[in-house]
Amino acid sequence: MDKREILKNYFGHAAFREGQEQIVDCLSAGRDALCVMPTGAGKSICYQVPALLAGGIALVVSPLISLMKDQVESLIQSGVPAAYINSSLTPAQTRLALERAADGRYKIIYVAPERLTTDAFLRFARPAVIDLLAVDEAHCVSQWGQDFRPSYLKIADFIEALDRRPTVGAFTATATKAVKEDIASILGLRDPLLVTTGFDRKNLYFSVEHPGNKLAALRRIVEESPGKCGIVYCSTRKNVEQVCETLCGWGIPASRYHAGLSDRERQQNQEDFLYDRKTVMVATNAFGMGIDKSNVSYVVHYNMPKDMESYYQEAGRAGRDGEPARCTILYSGQDVRTNTFLIDHAEPNPDLDEAAQAAVRERDRERLKRMTFYCTTGDCLRAYILRYFGETAPDFCGACSNCEEGAQTADATLDGQKVLSCAARMNQRFGIKMVIDVLRGSKNERIQRLGLDRLSTHGLLADSSERYLRAVVNALLAEGYAALTDGDYPVLTLTEKSRSLLQGEAALTVRLPAQQNKKAAPTQIEPDEQLFARLKTLRAELAAKARAPAYVVFTDASLRDMCQKLPRTPAEFLEVSGVGRTKLERYGNAFLREIEDYFYPQNSPHAE
Ligand code: ADP
Ligand code: ZN
Repeated sequence: MDKREILKNYFGHAAFREGQEQIVDCLSAGRDALCVMPTGAGKSICYQVPALLAGGIALVVSPLISLMKDQVESLIQSGVPAAYINSSLTPAQTRLALERAADGRYKIIYVAPERLTTDAFLRFARPAVIDLLAVDEAHCVSQWGQDFRPSYLKIADFIEALDRRPTVGAFTATATKAVKEDIASILGLRDPLLVTTGFDRKNLYFSVEHPGNKLAALRRIVEESPGKCGIVYCSTRKNVEQVCETLCGWGIPASRYHAGLSDRERQQNQEDFLYDRKTVMVATNAFGMGIDKSNVSYVVHYNMPKDMESYYQEAGRAGRDGEPARCTILYSGQDVRTNTFLIDHAEPNPDLDEAAQAAVRERDRERLKRMTFYCTTGDCLRAYILRYFGETAPDFCGACSNCEEGAQTADATLDGQKVLSCAARMNQRFGIKMVIDVLRGSKNERIQRLGLDRLSTHGLLADSSERYLRAVVNALLAEGYAALTDGDYPVLTLTEKSRSLLQGEAALTVRLPAQQNKKAAPTQIEPDEQLFARLKTLRAELAAKARAPAYVVFTDASLRDMCQKLPRTPAEFLEVSGVGRTKLERYGNAFLREIEDYFYPQNSPHAE
């Protein structure tokens, strides 16, 4: 079989996606590769196809046990002999797996990094014909990355120890220059082909909301996608607990995940989500690396994350099946302050000297600023993301909350000036709330006692809502026209830049919360809902039998395509996206019969 036949027969894909073919060709020709592809772009195909083209074995190093299990399950379902070796196996199981591996029974073997250099594994690997070593989540070798794992440093030792050096392919979704250099040098890549595929994920709809009540906003989002799976990221364990409890109280099947739970509960909750027993996962950022669930329809950030890198990685877990999906941040100014606090109080890294620590903090602050801009900009969000990652992008994408009709951006230069002059008149001694109260003309006891109701700015913006003024203040902070002092009672102060705004040399825009943001995600052709539901039920039965998550049998995208194409013969079934030979053999009849039965209930040959 050639690469296209393998792609179709095993994985059911009609064509390679951007970057995939180039990488397949490169690795198959024996040249190393370093591939930067965003989550969901389809990295696995890039090493799985070469693995099947090669005569020998392919090893895949992967950091997460849950990911391995899923991937291997998927491969087996697709007819590829595969296995994994990690700490979830008993010593006896490991021995058996290695014996079989030595017999050449597996084409692809997933292995945890810390297992690579164990005696047992080396005994198998040293003499074996290993053609390809794929390193997934390769940024874990770098101390610059967010997920440094010392065990990844063993990969190079392992390669050294082999009788014959395999071709090495490194894969990651994080792309900074320092990390890329680290990957190449620490893994000892030889003249690697560097492939970076586009960061755009066309099926994702991006939006930012500035809700007065985050829980209400969240409820709306969840209820807009009934029965669909979603992830809600919160910044703290406490928020996770609170949000999860609230959702459950509303009758929404939600589960939770954070580092404070026992291993067992985490494992259990993760499985509930993977197997669609619970549709919403509320989690801290501890949840997700390696979560290969393809049918996530929305990712909500209940709190703004600390930087765009984290955001895009987490949001990217939506819509991996290519279906339309939504990524929403529920922004509030408090998120900025929380993140600032976390940067300032981060555990010092013992490996870095004072100057380096300061540099890291500075870099983190800068990243936070860019993240905050994303939440307050009136420009196209997709364009902002792509440009952040160094790509060019048109000014208007039509599929984000800023491009969408109805989201408003307004010129707030004048109001911004009023806020600044009010803060100045109040001698830069008060917090945001006080400044806003004075501008709105409040006569509360404290304001009267301090005589602030006699200021010329008192009541200057009496007609504006508190919410709007908060948006103006946030924009001022984000653009550096104002600042907040540290400490328990942050005080709104002017900055060097304030003058340019006050003198009208600069302009300020705010993005006003698009509240009635009712518009749906990008249009998709609606499948026949009834048939779709029946196919889902069938899939659930088959998945239960195979003890695999439903999407390992078929993704929603495949079921939808069946509803579109309505195949009647095995040959037609093979045309369905995601259907390869093995899945045709395994499931073709069941689904063909179900479709037939749906249209002609009396004809279907039930008795067999
Ligand atoms: P990554 O590891 O880059 O996050 P995956 O390898 O898990 O992404 O692939 C993401 C999704 O894209 C999977 O559901 C996979 O079936 C699908 N996919 C990958 N390659 C193709 C392709 N060439 N055509 C259609 N779908 C694909
Ligand atoms: Zn846009």
